[in-house]
Amino acid sequence: MKSKLDLEIDIIPGIGPKKKTVYYKRGIKTIKDLLMHYPMRYEDRRHFKKIADVHFEEKVCIEGKIISVDVKKPKKNMVILRICIYDNTQKAFLTVFNNPYIQSQLTIGRTIKAYGTAKRINGICNISAPEIDFDNYSKKTGIIYPVYPLTRGLFNDEIIKSIKWILQSLNIKELEYLNSKYRQQLRLCELDDAIKNIHFPKDPLLIKVAKFRLVFDEFFLLNIGLSSIKHGLVKEPGIKHESSEETKSKIEAFVEELPFELTKAQSKVMQEIIDDMASDKPMQRLVQGDVGSGKTVIAMIAAYYAYINGYQCALMAPTEILAKQHYNNFLDIFKNTNAEIRLLTGSTTAKSKRTVYEELLNGSCDIVIGTHALIEDKVKFNNLSLVITDEQHRFGVRQRSKLLLKNHLTVDMLVMTATPIPRTLAFILHGDLDISVIDQMPSGRKPIKTFASKKQEANKVYDFAKQEIALGRQIYIVCPLIEESENLDIQAANELFEKLSESVFKGYKLALLHGKMKAQEKQEIMDAFSSGRIDILISTTVIEVGVNVPNSSVMIIQDAQRFGLSQLHQLRGRVGRGEYQSYCVLLYEGKNKYIEQRMKIMQNSNDGFEISQKDLELRGPGEYFGTRQHGLDNFKLADISKHISILNLAKDFADEVMSEDPELKNEENKAIKIELDKRFNKFMG
Ligand code: ADP
Ligand code: MG
Repeated sequence: MKSKLDLEIDIIPGIGPKKKTVYYKRGIKTIKDLLMHYPMRYEDRRHFKKIADVHFEEKVCIEGKIISVDVKKPKKNMVILRICIYDNTQKAFLTVFNNPYIQSQLTIGRTIKAYGTAKRINGICNISAPEIDFDNYSKKTGIIYPVYPLTRGLFNDEIIKSIKWILQSLNIKELEYLNSKYRQQLRLCELDDAIKNIHFPKDPLLIKVAKFRLVFDEFFLLNIGLSSIKHGLVKEPGIKHESSEETKSKIEAFVEELPFELTKAQSKVMQEIIDDMASDKPMQRLVQGDVGSGKTVIAMIAAYYAYINGYQCALMAPTEILAKQHYNNFLDIFKNTNAEIRLLTGSTTAKSKRTVYEELLNGSCDIVIGTHALIEDKVKFNNLSLVITDEQHRFGVRQRSKLLLKNHLTVDMLVMTATPIPRTLAFILHGDLDISVIDQMPSGRKPIKTFASKKQEANKVYDFAKQEIALGRQIYIVCPLIEESENLDIQAANELFEKLSESVFKGYKLALLHGKMKAQEKQEIMDAFSSGRIDILISTTVIEVGVNVPNSSVMIIQDAQRFGLSQLHQLRGRVGRGEYQSYCVLLYEGKNKYIEQRMKIMQNSNDGFEISQKDLELRGPGEYFGTRQHGLDNFKLADISKHISILNLAKDFADEVMSEDPELKNEENKAIKIELDKRFNKFMG
């Protein structure tokens, strides 16, 4: 049975074919769409003021009896009415332009109500182009007035009228899809009440209650939807890596030979991955771990597990520097195995590329490490079972890993990210992934000491850096990316490099690194820095991602006020990776509360999760996530930076429902399934 609420909006009196197309432009097709076209704000017009008490330049409601009307026609097709009213305290003028309807209603002595911005003209209160009600009508005054997002040819009052008609003429109780038991458990109001109150609230408190319900619905349906995608994936059988006493003892021996002992958190995550790989369900796992928590070794163990099962593994990194670094680390850790490991990046020569392609195809290469060069069509595998993508906090990489997976739908997939985001958010962004968290640092790490310093004091900071160099340590100096121009940041880095080499750091070994350098040149510089031949590396943010030089102990960030907190945290994570006490100095400029607040957060916290939460609150989700992501912009009311607690409530409840009834077949969940099918696809665009 089709509900009337699913009918198109032209059943509403006053909406003809022409209006209908205007509504379409705003994405409003059905009655339900219109009900879900929520006000973007409200004007509280409940209280009338005596004219004598009106504050000028403020919006206000007044009422009074008409004492005179003056009609002027300054031009053809232009009529200006000057209505004088009186309310026993003072006179006021209402100026109305081209409104024949109102003109016909103006009898002397009649009560008129008006809302608008009060101005003082010749000492008298004047409202120009006011909104007007007569006598005992209260359509625009005396109420909390909803203001809707509009489009050309669509007027606020038309929307109000249409929604009022729906509420009076149709049964909107049938919108409810959560039973009363659920609603009570979650302390939610009924959906029809929420809809009524979001449009026409009698009281601001009711807006809050309504919003809570509607925001909950958005988050809840998203979470349920993402969970069902995940359950959908499960159906495809994947590769089952053998799990026997033999494989177990091989992995144990591999772990035993590592130059360090795994942290508890690493061991736990390792086990989760091994269990996934041993099952025939394709692994879709995200490993989150703060910078320096030791994610690489987890990738190595997973790769080793694939290798001893006779399969191939691909590891993809976002930059060549990082791919090379992983490659070297893998060579080192796998030196006592027979695994054949290859590197494949954009700067691999055509000839070596061809060799690697061949080895991948005939199975003689076991582990390939590279950049997006791995996703070229020419790359074909013999028996790939595991794809790992590292540092995919630029979301594009996930896209790429998907590409790589195009022909390998059932392989196990492991994604590693250092951008810690709250668990619920991680679910929204990576809804179809299981999540493991490395929530512990290797022991013996000394927390990085962070200082914020005014730019003028840079010389003191550089003196401190010299002391560290004297102790044998190395220094990073990072310049920010300048938004306006790709080249400006390079220029700025260049200038700083020249200035510092000729002044404070004369006689020291400095090098410059930036994004536009040739891959090989970058690599040479990174190699020189890694092996200690360079004291100070000045760079743009190219080093943000994953670089590991444990001997470096100072990170100096220029113009730190330009970076997001999570980014600062990432940069800071380049030091403190070894046994030495490390330092991060934030050089900043500008004086405002916001900047100082941010610097303070960085000084007080070393916890990436906490920092990213603060970052999200301060910057809002748009900037935080960069571009459009996964329908996050398709929320109507929900805002992940403001409504974290509702999000958590919705996520927990979605988990509860899905764990009991993953296919939403139970009587009490059928309505949820129907609502989900209607709304989720639309939501994901
Ligand atoms: P990230 O999680 O940022 O990718 P890495 O995997 O690069 O971190 O590890 C950072 C450093 O910590 C590396 O030098 C690595 O060898 C070292 N490391 C990793 N795990 C441990 C551990 N359990 N104990 C000591 N050092 C470790
Ligand atoms: Mg890493």
